[in-house]
Amino acid sequence: MMRNEKQQDAIRGCLYGGAVGDALGYEVEFWDEEQIFEAYGPDGITAYEKDRGSGKALISDDTQMSLFTANGILVGDTEAALRGSHGWPREYVMKAYKDWLKTQELEEQQEYRADGARHSWLLDVPELHARRAPGRTCLSALEDGEEYEDYVRAKRNCSKGCGGIMRVAPLGVWRPAEDVRALDMEGAQLAAITHGHSLGYMPAAVLVHLLQRIVFPPEGKSLSLKEIVLEARDAAADLFAGDPHLAGLLDIIDRAVGLSENGAPDDLDNIRRLGEGWVAEETLGIALYCALRHPTDFSAGVVAAVNHSGDSDSTGAVTGNILGALLGYGGIEEKWKEDLEISDVILEIADDLCHGCRVSASGRCADPEWEEKYVAMRRPRR
Ligand SMILES: [Mg+2]
Repeated sequence: MMRNEKQQDAIRGCLYGGAVGDALGYEVEFWDEEQIFEAYGPDGITAYEKDRGSGKALISDDTQMSLFTANGILVGDTEAALRGSHGWPREYVMKAYKDWLKTQELEEQQEYRADGARHSWLLDVPELHARRAPGRTCLSALEDGEEYEDYVRAKRNCSKGCGGIMRVAPLGVWRPAEDVRALDMEGAQLAAITHGHSLGYMPAAVLVHLLQRIVFPPEGKSLSLKEIVLEARDAAADLFAGDPHLAGLLDIIDRAVGLSENGAPDDLDNIRRLGEGWVAEETLGIALYCALRHPTDFSAGVVAAVNHSGDSDSTGAVTGNILGALLGYGGIEEKWKEDLEISDVILEIADDLCHGCRVSASGRCADPEWEEKYVAMRRPRR
């Protein structure tokens, strides 16, 4: 089904905005605040630092894995359209993540071609084969490679790092969900593919709920961002009732909302009170704070989200996902649209999420390019 232009702009904004925050923060991911302000002055880093070789602002594993999330969802969507049956996105997304793992293990693209099984056309994008400080938990969980029906239950490990939440945004903006509760749980499942602690996957459910409500608001309702955040919070409270760590998740959401409304002008002070963002509930808390504090200014939100001592690229990415969905691609300042690595691929995947697989009367993909990407798993030659 073709979506309207407003939804297309929001879906593009979500994926592209995440990549902007990621690229901006990647430069200072492992820097503490003194180093950042010494190097960039009192406002911190406010513009892309470009790679000397390519002249591009580099994306990191957050964006790479988000794109593979989308690729997996779309392979599952295509199977459903062509064959009627289909499993949960997690089944296809796990396979796509294994492709991402291959990009991190081998440098030469040729080697993938020799290895028969492919689950994503993104394997053919050379830039995605760069290692950009990939998270250790993601690598080790995927190296283990075991596939489960229910990753939340399987509890692969006890990690609550932010490697899950940083990559699930595409699920939230994919299409209007018939059952938002099931969508939220699927968000948790995608994070739990690599992160087994409940604070590693519950924040992903909150983010997916939030993005879904931003891009596909319930008919006749116009909710503020704060109202959507509180709804997502309550949905998680219901979905994960009884989880021993739920109170910690709800607490950080409440604190993020409260801090966004306090009079203190200093974002850095407020962010420090939420943590550093290396663990998923703090990533969510910092991103919620930055988005609620700067709901009409994409640039101010992502700049606040990366200028602190913590995991700048992930807090930048999630903030960019939220503000990009809220303000749309059109609401992202032009300076962020110049020289971002693989911006064409990011927008292409966003548009594919938006349009979905169309089937012809003969039961084939109505679009040969789509078939090339999501059935043959090859990047179309243009
Ligand atoms: Mg990263």
